[in-house]
Amino acid sequence: MLVLVKPEDFPEIRGKLIEQTPLAAYTWLRVGGPADMLFLPKDEADLAMFMAQKPAELPVFVLGAGSNLLVRDGGIAGVVIRLGPAFGALQVEDEVFIRVGAAVFDKMLAKFAAKFGIGGLSFYSGIPGSIGGALRMNAGCYGTETADVLHSVVVIDGFGRRRIVAVDELNYSYRNCGAPKDWIFVEALFKGQKADPEEIFQQMQLIQERREQSQPIREKTGGSTFKNPPDHKSWELIDQAGARGRKVGGAIMSKQHCNFMINAENASADDLEQLALSVQKSVKETSGVDLQWEIKRVGRS
Ligand SMILES: Cc1cc2nc3c(=O)[nH]c(=O)nc-3n(C[C@H](O)[C@H](O)[C@H](O)COP(=O)(O)OP(=O)(O)OC[C@H]3O[C@@H](n4cnc5c(N)ncnc54)[C@H](O)[C@@H]3O)c2cc1C
Repeated sequence: MLVLVKPEDFPEIRGKLIEQTPLAAYTWLRVGGPADMLFLPKDEADLAMFMAQKPAELPVFVLGAGSNLLVRDGGIAGVVIRLGPAFGALQVEDEVFIRVGAAVFDKMLAKFAAKFGIGGLSFYSGIPGSIGGALRMNAGCYGTETADVLHSVVVIDGFGRRRIVAVDELNYSYRNCGAPKDWIFVEALFKGQKADPEEIFQQMQLIQERREQSQPIREKTGGSTFKNPPDHKSWELIDQAGARGRKVGGAIMSKQHCNFMINAENASADDLEQLALSVQKSVKETSGVDLQWEIKRVGRS
């Protein structure tokens, strides 16, 4: 049974607890219903206290930059947590390590690393999420992923306990993190290597140009809808299935990059989900491959 909580159930919390908060504006696809309650923790101690005090059965969902999310039209049950400025630290340690808060955008980390001549993190300049989302998704591109450059993370677990966890214990695989689902990433320590800042900025420039050409980065999209199956590219399978440009309601498979869904004309979350399901079905029929969702679908229909 769904547990209902009210802001007044948490008198010691210093952050904001807001009931019935619309979530569409927090996501790149700009769809979805409200969160029963949105929690904006004041800082890490506040977050830990909330996690320790909340009823064990209360569903909790952590929202990053919303660039990999399809929030359904009925909204999200329980509490949605969004980390704010208190989780925005960026700091160099021992020349080649960077300590970064989970609310920092990937692009900010890439720029910061470039400025301090720390190489290996420029791939983040092309990913529009936050570090928290990158840690959960094992975000990556152009041959590098988060697990390759990560040293360790700080998490708040489902009981409000702070843990420092080494990358090897997070069981990373392609666009997946094996850490317990109720762990909230609050900080990460990345390891790069000494490099020339000019060269890093040039790499970032190339990444930006490549993205502009190949992806609809100025549209309401969630990035790759499906993961690439072993030995295949999802976009090729979708193209072969004749689904490039396919429409359902206001949702369309991008003509520029046909693994990207776009909210083109006031699509509902249901339009987007039905579109992707129909593409998945066509691909199965034409190539026999079961495409796996990369976008996370959350909430009530
Ligand atoms: C135009 C475009 C291009 C993209 N290109 C790429 C690409 O090249 N490579 C790639 O990997 N991805 C890409 N993506 C997808 C997306 O940017 C990444 O998956 C990104 O890492 C998601 O981060 P986010 O902060 O937006 O997370 P969200 O979308 O908000 O959430 C994603 C998941 O992370 C979890 N999460 C978020 N923060 C935390 C936290 N602090 N603790 C625990 N869990 C958390 C959420 O609960 C959810 O399960 C692209 C998306 C777009 C729109």
